Amino acid sequence: MTLVVQKFGGTSVANIDRIRHVAQRVAKTYDQGNDVVVILSAMAGVTDGLIELAQKAAEEPDKRELDVLLATGEQTTAALLAMMLQSMGYKAQSMLGHQAQVVTDCDYGNARILEIGAHRLLQLIEKHTIVVVAGFQGYDIKGNITTLGRGGSDTSAVAIAAATNADVCEIYTDVDGIYTADPNVCPKARKLKTITYDEMLNMASLGAKVLQIRSVGFAKKYDIPVHVRSSFNEEEGTMVVNEDSGMEQLVVSGVTHDKKQARVTITKVPDQPGVAAKVFSPISEAGIVVDMIIQNTRQGGKTDMTFTVPKLDFKRTMEISQKVAAQIGAEEVLGDTNIGMVSVIGVGMKNHAGVAAVMFNTLARDNINIIMIGTSEIRISCVIEEKYTELAVRVLHTAFGLDAEE
Ligand code: ASP
Ligand code: MG
Repeated sequence: MTLVVQKFGGTSVANIDRIRHVAQRVAKTYDQGNDVVVILSAMAGVTDGLIELAQKAAEEPDKRELDVLLATGEQTTAALLAMMLQSMGYKAQSMLGHQAQVVTDCDYGNARILEIGAHRLLQLIEKHTIVVVAGFQGYDIKGNITTLGRGGSDTSAVAIAAATNADVCEIYTDVDGIYTADPNVCPKARKLKTITYDEMLNMASLGAKVLQIRSVGFAKKYDIPVHVRSSFNEEEGTMVVNEDSGMEQLVVSGVTHDKKQARVTITKVPDQPGVAAKVFSPISEAGIVVDMIIQNTRQGGKTDMTFTVPKLDFKRTMEISQKVAAQIGAEEVLGDTNIGMVSVIGVGMKNHAGVAAVMFNTLARDNINIIMIGTSEIRISCVIEEKYTELAVRVLHTAFGLDAEE
């Protein structure tokens, strides 16, 4: 028998009518002769509401207690769906994180799944019971309740699919699938039939709204096909799969943009061993994630270093960089928050030359100046002036043949 894991997000279980709709969908899958494990999010808005309540209860709510509180959102929906399925005549049972033996580390609010003792889940599946697991939650070795970070139910679902050796993990959400670009920015964006794990991981700015990125890492590691699809219609969504599974032959699969980065340049840095370490160690110690880094060629024993950090961390990064610049005898620190990053992503790039040239020519044709360039095996990113970000996405989308046919 086929084992299908179905995960429904917050909007799909937003009220009792929608939960009923979920129950029907699950029942239909079961009636088609599949075993089904369901993973649920909390009702839309509930997790936010609980966080607000906690902030009213204490200025800095204790992290352990916060997780005890947040886990109730998923406890509610799991119980409701299980009762509903039972009243429809199906064998169903809810399970909380600890009952499904989702073991995590002790990082409250952002815990990582270490293992899932699938034993009890499998026992129920063997009896063809529909198991409804509360997503987003687990427990640490001391038995404390933990939560997996916002959007964590996706990771619960993929991890449970891996642990139970499911045939597919379906993620039901409020969008139809993964698009070639953000449809709000690029009206000609279209839904992809398939996308690889690596492309998805690179599409963080697009994909992260749809799937918790951590779940994609899990899916890749255990080779779990993930089907992202809408809970509001029956259409096929997007399959997130490994590279050899008969993909659409696209060189570029998507164009993403990110306006949340800022640029920092340290000028005339002495070109000596250890300098980059001196610059970036204090930044990483402050927990700031540096994305793109460029170091120019040396001139007169000095070089310029430019990098990007999240806008939210810009002020702190400038302060740290100024201190470091003084210590190492660099000239000055310049910053710019009016930047946007556009990226083209595609595994097809691995065996296609000229993608970068097409990208640069396309931007040049619209007079868009490139400030920084970064590449990886399957991604080329350009930092440009922020105000051209949307235009850049649209012209690149067209240039790489991604536009939907009218
Ligand atoms: N309820 C949690 C959240 O809102 C987890 C999830 O929905 O995936 O982030
Ligand atoms: Mg989500």
